[in-house]
Amino acid sequence: MSKYSIFSLARNAMSYHQNWAAAWRSPEPKQKYDAIIVGGGGHGLATAYYMAKEHGMKNIAVLEKGWIGGGNTGRNTTIVRSNYLWDESAHLYEKSMKLWEGLSQDLNYNVMFSQRGVYNLGHTLQDMRDIQRRVNANRLNGIDGHVVTPQEIKAAIPHINIDQGCRYPIMGASFQPRGGVARHDAVAWGFARGADKYGVDIIQNCEVTSILQENGAVTGVETSRGKIMSPKVGVVVAGHCSVLAEMAGFRMPIESHPLQALVSEPIKPILDTVVMSNAVHGYVSQSDKGDLVIGAGIDSYNGYGQRGSFSGIEHTVSAIVELFPIFSRVRMNRQWGGIVDTTPDACPIIGNAPVKGLYFNCGWGTGGFKATPGSGWVFAHNVATGQPHDLNRPFALDRFVTGHLIDEHGAAGVAH
Ligand SMILES: Cc1cc2nc3c(=O)[nH]c(=O)nc-3n(C[C@H](O)[C@H](O)[C@H](O)COP(=O)(O)OP(=O)(O)OC[C@H]3O[C@@H](n4cnc5c(N)ncnc54)[C@H](O)[C@@H]3O)c2cc1C
Repeated sequence: MSKYSIFSLARNAMSYHQNWAAAWRSPEPKQKYDAIIVGGGGHGLATAYYMAKEHGMKNIAVLEKGWIGGGNTGRNTTIVRSNYLWDESAHLYEKSMKLWEGLSQDLNYNVMFSQRGVYNLGHTLQDMRDIQRRVNANRLNGIDGHVVTPQEIKAAIPHINIDQGCRYPIMGASFQPRGGVARHDAVAWGFARGADKYGVDIIQNCEVTSILQENGAVTGVETSRGKIMSPKVGVVVAGHCSVLAEMAGFRMPIESHPLQALVSEPIKPILDTVVMSNAVHGYVSQSDKGDLVIGAGIDSYNGYGQRGSFSGIEHTVSAIVELFPIFSRVRMNRQWGGIVDTTPDACPIIGNAPVKGLYFNCGWGTGGFKATPGSGWVFAHNVATGQPHDLNRPFALDRFVTGHLIDEHGAAGVAH
């Protein structure tokens, strides 16, 4: 830390932080921009940041209907990994992992990326065959990972239950050492601050209510703060992408579901890695504050309520207690939900929409936090140049017409 930052920290502490400069501006929307990004989650902010940084486009607005990071970005369980099965997704998530590895330096903002490793547990012989196949595929793609035995898991995580007599005995796991967690709010704030420094206008409390078009090309958007014109509009609104697609006159092959998570009271350090299980539908890590951060499977009904059902919580907590019987003594503190946008092949949709100048980035479902920098990076290329980058070309909307699906249910599933 430089002398200047120490003095500045001390000065701000003494003034009860009242003189801290805002980390980004809150400008009034202009009448016209070179590009508009709808959605101020991590992906939208990252898109604007990389458009400015890598493509020199600075006259950009990010329009957010609420507050930045208030959607799934601020509601997720922050697991980051890149060990997806198929080449197309492995390349995209690994691009993201590489960006994560330098992100705090690049943004000059600590996103608290912690590579504490991620275990994906197997509970049946078929789980273990799938895990072995995925690890082999990952290694062919240069992605780290190996298969571990129950004894190796127990040695690394002493509190886990490897008793073979239980309902879902642990038969092994894949382990990706470079996986881990990051601080979700800091990711949104870091990208916002970075984009703002390049001149991007971040406009909160600004809901897009219609997409304006003329002769098959986008001309701008109608918002709760008036009309804003632009020849390029990138839509990155996660669970609300079908709503925005309907405004533009087409249908998205997306279902929006609630997905919930909960945290316990803070406890002393007990778990220094991430444990996930598709079979029991639960995953857990421990935050720096000490809370156990626990995620569930999606609630099966469609909806836009950011809540989720009580039965989902009960199911998840019983699964976690089966994996970690000692956690039955920990009290749960808070629960919340987000709206995840699921596609039929558990892969995102990133690319050109059927309207000229309109681009969509959505369908990340239960697992898009880990992709935040990579998604923003490829989408920035797509919006800036009008053409997909090689990394996002396979994720075009027309794969649901051509049949070139990339089935990642095995690697995505509930397992973020
Ligand atoms: C409980 C839970 C746990 C999860 N756990 C993980 C995990 O561990 N690892 C992982 O990789 N992923 C996880 N995910 C998924 C991950 O959170 C999302 O895929 C990712 O955050 C999506 O980011 P985003 O920027 O696209 O969307 P969001 O952060 O949801 O941002 C979209 C924004 O668009 C705004 N918006 C919507 N409509 C409009 C409009 N009309 N006008 C203007 N703005 C609009 C919304 O207000 C929102 O802020 C989880 C999700 C949930 C809900």
